[in-house]
Amino acid sequence: MESFDIAVIGAGAAGMMCAAVAGQRGARVVLIDHAPRLAEKIRISGGGRCNFTNLQAGPANYLSANPHFCRSALARYTPRDFLALLKTHRISWHEKHRGQLFCDHSSESIIEMLKAECDAGRIAWRRPVDVQGVRRGEDGAFSIDTNAGEIRARALVIATGGLSIPKIGATDFAYRIAKQFGHKLVDMRPALVPLTFSSEQWAPFSTLAGVSLEVEVSAGPKRAQGSFVEDLLFTHRGLSGPGILQVSSYWQSGESIAIDLLPGRDAAAELLEAKASGVKRQIGNLLAQWLPARLAQAWLQAHDVSAEARLSDLSDKTLRRLGEAFSRWTLTPSGTEGYRKAEVTKGGVDTKELSSSSMMSARVPGLYFIGEAVDVTGWLGGYNFQWAWASGVAAGEAAFEL
Ligand code: FAD
Repeated sequence: MESFDIAVIGAGAAGMMCAAVAGQRGARVVLIDHAPRLAEKIRISGGGRCNFTNLQAGPANYLSANPHFCRSALARYTPRDFLALLKTHRISWHEKHRGQLFCDHSSESIIEMLKAECDAGRIAWRRPVDVQGVRRGEDGAFSIDTNAGEIRARALVIATGGLSIPKIGATDFAYRIAKQFGHKLVDMRPALVPLTFSSEQWAPFSTLAGVSLEVEVSAGPKRAQGSFVEDLLFTHRGLSGPGILQVSSYWQSGESIAIDLLPGRDAAAELLEAKASGVKRQIGNLLAQWLPARLAQAWLQAHDVSAEARLSDLSDKTLRRLGEAFSRWTLTPSGTEGYRKAEVTKGGVDTKELSSSSMMSARVPGLYFIGEAVDVTGWLGGYNFQWAWASGVAAGEAAFEL
């Protein structure tokens, strides 16, 4: 049997950060993971360049049953703190879009950096190692049964992430441990995920796979928070692209989503104006100035209007109907592409019984939950990694002090 101060299960983004922070303060830390390759999710993130944070990260960018829970950890470890860490490792980066920061070269450099930080904290690595069970003794210490023997620690940090992408090692471990120790779970479901439609509903658009354009898309109660101006991508089975991934986190099964295909444009008024001013163009050509030509064609077909029709041949009523349909495309997805394609899991360990400053369980002293396993889900754009870093640092500091 081996003994440590702190055992961290899950050597992903949050787990490595937590282990490094506690180890560098002087705690004896063991980091356990079952995957053969280290931090595969960081490796594949951001198209291989890891969108490692967002300069604008704040509580408003996260979904949770308790929207205030993430505030304290995010305020204590900010995107600037992570940038300072990158600087010490000479990792160059760039801002791509709306505060989203990516590595200039490869996500591999983030993994190397975290590994080096863990090594600087003299972390004991145990991987690939399977965890068979966890017990808490009368003295309050935890015993972890693994296929490499028993490990004991006075603090246990669960950092095994969510359910997305089971192919690379995602499991429900965190949720099982939470339940074992009496914690409640907030319903889990795939988020930041493409939306699908029935083949019947999608028939008019199935030929548009690959077409992309900027839209305003909204979903969720009152559609107030879940509204984004971002790109949308047509796929063979439905819709994807950043705008759709964003609203998928707000979408509830059975509800509709609303899309404005021409945000910032009053298409109905402009079509009527063009007709009144005597423009002699075909409607298909005119719309192709505003939208990808293939989409304009399919849209007209779906609304029984010939692309060759001249504006003067179409009634005001038809033009108004067409124009309004662009800004109010309402459709009800039949589902999502599921955990196979979801970037994150929404829901997870209920924050009600976790400390927002340390991530420690209020039920079981010495037990911590961090990262995606917790019911804190970020928007697309670097927010999920920022939560992983911030919650990891909070638990690493607190577990050292325990
Ligand atoms: P993870 O990083 O998933 O780490 C969990 C670790 O626990 C893994 O190493 C796993 O092997 C281990 N584990 C799981 N079960 C067990 C078990 N039973 N026993 C032992 N070990 C176990 N977020 C961003 O902010 N920016 C991005 O660019 C971005 N891109 C993404 C792209 C893709 C394709 C995906 C799927 C996600 C992306 N995300 C991105 C989300 C981000 O990767 C996660 O939110 C983040 O990795 C969560 O960190 P974590 O440490 O909680 O979990």
